[in-house]
Amino acid sequence: MINRNVLKKCAAVLLGINMFSLMLTGCSSFNPADQVESLGGKVIQTSTIFAMDTVMELQIYGDAALLNEAQQKITDLENRISVTNSESDIGKLNAACVTEVIDGKNYKSAEISAVTAQIMERALKMCERTDGALDISIYPVVKTWGFTTGEYKVPTDQELSELLKEVDYTKVVLAEDGGKNTICKIPENMQVDLGSVAKGYTSQMLTDYFTESGITSGLINLGGNVQCIGSKPNNDKWKVAIKSPFSDSKSGILGVLEASDVAIITSGGYERFFEEDGKIYWHIIDPDDGRPTDNGIVSVTIVGKDGFLCDALSTALFVKGLDEAISFWQQSDDFDAVFVTEDGTVYVTQGIADSFTLSSEYYNAEKIILTK
Ligand code: AMP
Ligand code: MG
Repeated sequence: MINRNVLKKCAAVLLGINMFSLMLTGCSSFNPADQVESLGGKVIQTSTIFAMDTVMELQIYGDAALLNEAQQKITDLENRISVTNSESDIGKLNAACVTEVIDGKNYKSAEISAVTAQIMERALKMCERTDGALDISIYPVVKTWGFTTGEYKVPTDQELSELLKEVDYTKVVLAEDGGKNTICKIPENMQVDLGSVAKGYTSQMLTDYFTESGITSGLINLGGNVQCIGSKPNNDKWKVAIKSPFSDSKSGILGVLEASDVAIITSGGYERFFEEDGKIYWHIIDPDDGRPTDNGIVSVTIVGKDGFLCDALSTALFVKGLDEAISFWQQSDDFDAVFVTEDGTVYVTQGIADSFTLSSEYYNAEKIILTK
């Protein structure tokens, strides 16, 4: 199904994640002395943590204590929304017992915390905005393919059609319980997962926290999903590399975006995949047929002010495919994008055309600037 050249053995890109992240955030030429001077004595503070199955690197110019607090916030959030933690809000909801019948269907329900309710509500809006290309109830399908455990298998058509009967985000109900908590109700056989938006929510949450704490320059890198706070301390823009989705890439870098005050979030098949009988199957699933997308798109990067929106759209537009993704962008005004197709063509929307440069490895790739 999927072109093998695209990502067979992407281990090269995933290898040495720390070094790669450094390149990703464009800080390999960082000179602490310059920064000290330009920030009136403030030095770079960094921390690396592993959460949400991701190496997270935080850099701020300011008080190191903020990083400790940020780490705590990430841990708290993960404990609330992790689908694999049976004690999280999502874990409890997925395992809950049937409590009522709605429209003739058995529903289970659980109380969820305010933060989970907020993410759910926003995620459901994005499911709606993308006409279900994003669907937080796709989880049982993702699980059956083995993407949650690494025990990969290609499900039968019958298995998929049974599972798809339960995939329908419109059936998720969020109800106030009269107090400050929210009750979430989902059909008995449904399971939900916020993995497609979790990192975008996290980078936005951290950006808000750091900004409110007075930070004007910083970089949040959640495994290649980047959110910039302001510009560099010397007022240069951040240089953020976008990974190449191609397995034969030598540098691992498709191009570099100069950016400030935006999130830059990429979905790529190379992030999680397996190969069986010469075919590649990756972790982004089309809710229409329950199969890994196979529409020619191999990477989608969304650039915008809101990390959550960028994360939701990177997954959803990957599912939509190039033509629909372009018309979706043309009808929107809250993001820019880079789309890469399996033939190596790079599509860049007009808002970032001047700030995105292909890496030297891809200097002769076809670059098409999309206009409205
Ligand atoms: P991302 O890396 O943000 O594109 O999110 C991909 C993850 O979201 C996958 O690993 C799945 O767990 C989940 N997922 C896959 N397909 C979909 C979909 N169509 N809608 C929502 N979540 C999805
Ligand atoms: Mg996403």
